[in-house]
Amino acid sequence: MTGGDGLRPDTVAVRSGRGRDSGGALAPTIVTTTTWASDSVDEAHRKARRPRSPEFYSRFGNPGVQSFADAVAELEGADAGVCFASGMGAISSTILALCSQGSHVVAQRQLFAATHQLFTGVCARFGIDVTLVDGTDADAIEAAVIPGRTQVVFVETPANPVMAVVDLARIGAITGPITVVDSTFATPVVQRPLEIPGIDLVVHSATKGLAGHNDATLGVAVGERELIDWIWGYSTIHGATASPFDAWNGMRGLRTLGIRVRRQCETAQQLAEVLDDHEAVVAVHHPGLPSHPQAAIIARQMELGGGCLSVDLRGGLEAGRIFVESLELAHLAPSLGGPETLVTHPATMTHASMTPEDRAAGGIGDGLVRLSAGLEHPDDLVADVVQALDAVGASATVV
Ligand SMILES: *Cc1c(COP(=O)(O)O)cnc(C)c1O
Repeated sequence: MTGGDGLRPDTVAVRSGRGRDSGGALAPTIVTTTTWASDSVDEAHRKARRPRSPEFYSRFGNPGVQSFADAVAELEGADAGVCFASGMGAISSTILALCSQGSHVVAQRQLFAATHQLFTGVCARFGIDVTLVDGTDADAIEAAVIPGRTQVVFVETPANPVMAVVDLARIGAITGPITVVDSTFATPVVQRPLEIPGIDLVVHSATKGLAGHNDATLGVAVGERELIDWIWGYSTIHGATASPFDAWNGMRGLRTLGIRVRRQCETAQQLAEVLDDHEAVVAVHHPGLPSHPQAAIIARQMELGGGCLSVDLRGGLEAGRIFVESLELAHLAPSLGGPETLVTHPATMTHASMTPEDRAAGGIGDGLVRLSAGLEHPDDLVADVVQALDAVGASATVV
């Protein structure tokens, strides 16, 4: 599988997003103006009518912001892209651009927590009906679609936090609704959903692996030009406009996407294998492990296992607490895909707003911790994780 022009994503990441006039500058440039002067009424009119106009008014577009969107579009093999102020900006704008009162959405139950809140809270308030189903059950997703009424099928794969994988070929085969894939956990180095027939849109929290340095809050949606133009039109009203500075950081981060993501995938794989063998561990969830329940689907749609894994620790909440507090290299912080290895405890952090029943339905136990592999040396991380697991094991023996 390759990106635009048959080039590998690592190469596309270095070459893409350079279409705009940068005077030969190789590093990304930043334009901070919020408005652009026109020479005539006709010129101003042209700029005002042009989707994602990069030189009219900053809520409509910005050259550097659009370069980042173009680069991600090229990486995903899409016609067009549009940037947002965050991943949630991209997801909320996409859903609210495509749906109206009375629309029906089918989404998987295993979702990023704020996306889950959008579907269960906000959509309900606006009369958008959402059916949540188990994303690992493609038959259930298909069965939940109401012909002529379901407007959007929304999936996230691999999904937060137990790395549940959705069969994208089955989602693409559903005719009628617009199919949207949150591919944040993968990045285009790991999977490119738009290469699968019938997938219409890919959204990312570029805050994570795409920008990759924990220094930009950014979102992006890519797909067919007409759909992106429509979402962009709504986005000028919704107003979750990406900042030029974040897009500039994002563009700079994107240049090293290939080398960063490949290293994180290798490290995550190594950590998953070490954890899998430890007595303090009940289960390890990582798409790169042969024991992953959807290994056959993973082999078809993912080139690598991704940089995240989660671990069920024996001993519940207390074990989770001892583990994350015993880690010396990994930081206890939300987010993923950056240079620093991060650990989260979903039950008390990212998924604390969910009810315990919803958490349990998503496989999120009290002893579950999620790791996002950073760019530290893998041997140092393995040693850190093993000493933290030993601390969990020792406490269990004492009790
Ligand atoms: C972080 C994340 C989001 C939301 O992105 P923000 O940039 O934090 O708004 C959406 N989906 C997934 C899978 C994420 O990890």
